Formats: sequence, C-alpha cells, structure tokens
Amino acid sequence: MKSNNYDIVIVGGGILGLATAMELSSQNLRFKICLIEKEAELALHQTGHNSGVIHSGLYYRPGSLKAQNCVSGSKALKEFCDEHGVKYDLVGKVVVAVTEDELPALNTLHERGTANGVEGLKMIDKEELLEIEPYVNGIKALHCPKTGIIDYREVSEAYAAVCRNNGVSIMMETELLNIIEHNQSIVLETTKGSLNSSYIINCAGLYSDNVAQMMNKSIDTRIIPFRGEYYTISQDKDYLVKGLIYPVPNPAFPFLGVHFTRMINGGIEAGPNAVLAFAKEGYTMSSMNMTELISTVTYSGFWYMSYRYWRTGLQEFWRSISKKEFTKDLQRLLPAVEEADLVSGGAGVRAQAVDSGGNLLDDFNIVKSPRAMHVINAPSPAATASLSIAKTIVASAQSDLGLL
Ligand SMILES: Cc1cc2nc3c(=O)[nH]c(=O)nc-3n(C[C@H](O)[C@H](O)[C@H](O)COP(=O)(O)OP(=O)(O)OC[C@H]3O[C@@H](n4cnc5c(N)ncnc54)[C@H](O)[C@@H]3O)c2cc1C
Repeated sequence: MKSNNYDIVIVGGGILGLATAMELSSQNLRFKICLIEKEAELALHQTGHNSGVIHSGLYYRPGSLKAQNCVSGSKALKEFCDEHGVKYDLVGKVVVAVTEDELPALNTLHERGTANGVEGLKMIDKEELLEIEPYVNGIKALHCPKTGIIDYREVSEAYAAVCRNNGVSIMMETELLNIIEHNQSIVLETTKGSLNSSYIINCAGLYSDNVAQMMNKSIDTRIIPFRGEYYTISQDKDYLVKGLIYPVPNPAFPFLGVHFTRMINGGIEAGPNAVLAFAKEGYTMSSMNMTELISTVTYSGFWYMSYRYWRTGLQEFWRSISKKEFTKDLQRLLPAVEEADLVSGGAGVRAQAVDSGGNLLDDFNIVKSPRAMHVINAPSPAATASLSIAKTIVASAQSDLGLL
C-alpha cells in the first residue's frame, strides 16, 4: 500500500505549484514530494485563464520581486520551452500613448524597463509605430521586441511531466480541507484522506489566504477576486493586430488596462478588464459564492479599498456590462475595431491580495512560518516568472529544512 508520508506537500497544481515541485525534485535532495490539486485538470484557474503573454519586465519598480523575477524568469522560461518543445513566439509589444498627458507615464515605463535590463526596449515615434502596428492610433510608443506569447497550460503540462519523471506524486481531485499541526508532523486532511508531511508549500492561488489560515498563520491580507473579461476579435479583422498592443497603464492601479493580444493558438483577444467577482472562481457576472462574498465584505480592507477605488470600480463595472463602452475604450487604441467585430470570449479571475488598510499589494508576497511557506500574492507576471519564483521558494524552503 502507498504510504501517505511525505517530506513536502505542495498545495495547488497551477504554474507556481508545478514549477516549485519541478525545481525541488530536480535538485536530487531525495525528498518525498507530493502535489495536491483539487480539480481533475492541472492549471485550470489563473494559469489556464490568462492572457498568455511572456512579459519582459517593463512595468515593475526596479529592485522589486516582480522586476527581479520577471527578467530572469522570462529568460528561463524560453530556455525551458526550447529544451522541452513548448511553442512560443516573440511577437513584440507596443505600449501606446494616445495623448500628450500620457507621455510622463510612458517615460517612467521606459526608465523602469531600462533599469530592469529589458532587452531591445526603445521609445519610438508615430511613424515607427505605424510600421510595427499599422492600424494603431498613437503619438508615441514604447517598443519591446522580445515580449512573447505562449500557452501557460501547455507550459504547466510540461512542468508536470518533468515532476512525474522525477518521482513527484501528483494527486488530482484532492482538495485540502484542513491542516492539523503535531510536534513531529503536519496532517493535511483532504477529500482523498489524510497525508502527513514535514513541510507545506502553499501555492493555492485564489485560496492561498484560506490555506494560510488553516495553519493559523495570521496574515494581514485577504485575496479579493477580480474578474478579467475578454472579447475575441472576429477573424476578418485579424489583420488589425500584428502582435501585442497595450495602453499606458494607470499607475494607481496594478492592472495593465485592456489590450490586444495575438494568441499563440490563433486569434486576437481584447481585454481583460478588472471587475470585482462575487466568487473566487466566479468566471461569469452571475457566479456567486455566498460564503466567499460574506468573507470579502466583512473584511475591513475591502471597505478601505472600495472607498479609495470606487470611481474606477464603477467604471470597470459599467464597461463590463456595456459592450459599447468596452468598444469605445478599444477604439482609442485601434479606431478600426467596431462593436460588431467583438465576440464574447472567456474570463480569468485574478487573486489580488489586499491588506487591512485597503492597499492592493503590488509586489509578489511570500510569507513563511517555521514549517510552511505561503505564496500570498502572485499576480501577473507570475506565470512568466514561475521558474524564477520557484527557485526563490526552494532556496528558502531548503534553509527551513536545514539543508543550506
Ligand atoms: C486574467 C488574467 C490575465 C493574466 N495574464 C498574464 C500574462 O499574460 N502573463 C503572466 O505572466 N501572468 C498573467 N496572469 C497572472 C498569472 O496567470 C498568475 O500569476 C499565475 O497563473 C498564478 O499561478 P498560481 O499557480 O499561483 O495560481 P493558479 O493557477 O490559480 O493555481 C492555484 C491552484 O491551486 C488549486 N487549489 C486551490 N485551493 C486548493 C485546495 N484547497 N486544495 C487543492 N488545490 C487547491 C486551484 O485549483 C489551482 O489549480 C494573468 C492572470 C489573470 C487572472
């Protein structure tokens, strides 16, 4: 009979849990490792519902974890894909200023990207912009030729194949329900029975705060779910977008603004917006989970956040229910796109950590306790940066396990 005793259990079969399991198991430390995932498929949530962009490190404050991990992570990701036959395409990206008042923010991005060592980054004028994206409306842009597109579900499957080959036991349809700590070991109660482990790595994405709470880890943050909805552009207008077209983002908000993305498996997506979701896995406007909603609205941070961002929140909500409004925003960048060209697409839900003062955590955040590590905030570009974040997690876990 298979023993249920492990050295390390990783919770969550998204890209971060899998990258961490792969990194740990590749280091030949003879750990017995198990990864549990509540769904029947890997990468079904944030990882499988994202924009599929390999970011290059343009947006992030120099020295932040996002900046450090995005630049090294995108390089490592491309090398992994070359080695394992995962397709990607460096289609390039432009961040476009439409009006003069967006130029200071565009210059800041240029400075940040340069400080972060983003390869090939260049400020371009209108003429050069039109050579790259002939249908765009803009006065100036930042061109990032090494930004790419990829399917992160395919990447996750490739990580999982390496994990299995390294002896990691991946348990599907195994939801973590509770954690009981004893002196010698930790018991994880799951829908498939109990597991014993010496150490836990929490990569549960939208539920990472709940898993941390199971270990009585007092964290000053909660995951507030923000849905990002997409439209796809009808095939006959495919020619309007060559690569990736982004607006200059609002610096007060950690989301990048609705953009156009050429997808690796074909087609163009427009989005995502950022609307408060009424369930952590609320992929449609009508999805609601009463327990989760009550937990959100009884959190002080939610009210402080709402007070601070109510205007943006209402605009996002309005744009979510009005296709006309969504189209108007897209037309700022691409005037030739019309409402009739937009077909409702999918949606993803971002796990955004918010602190009790209502601040949206901008940087990656990993919280430790003596026998666990909790990945509390891993928004975009965490898929791009997955291999680099995994290295950081593993180095830190090794020191906890007395191996460094
Ligand atoms: C709309 C959107 C667009 C984005 N675009 C990009 C992009 O273009 N590029 C980029 O780099 N990043 C992007 N991101 C961010 C990126 O997708 C995430 O940072 C990344 O996928 C996080 O991975 P994860 O493994 O932490 O979370 P997830 O992929 O959400 O995985 C967490 C896993 O934990 C499992 N789980 C949860 N609770 C339990 C439990 N109790 N027991 C067992 N299993 C559990 C879940 O089922 C899930 O599979 C985007 C995100 C969104 C939502």
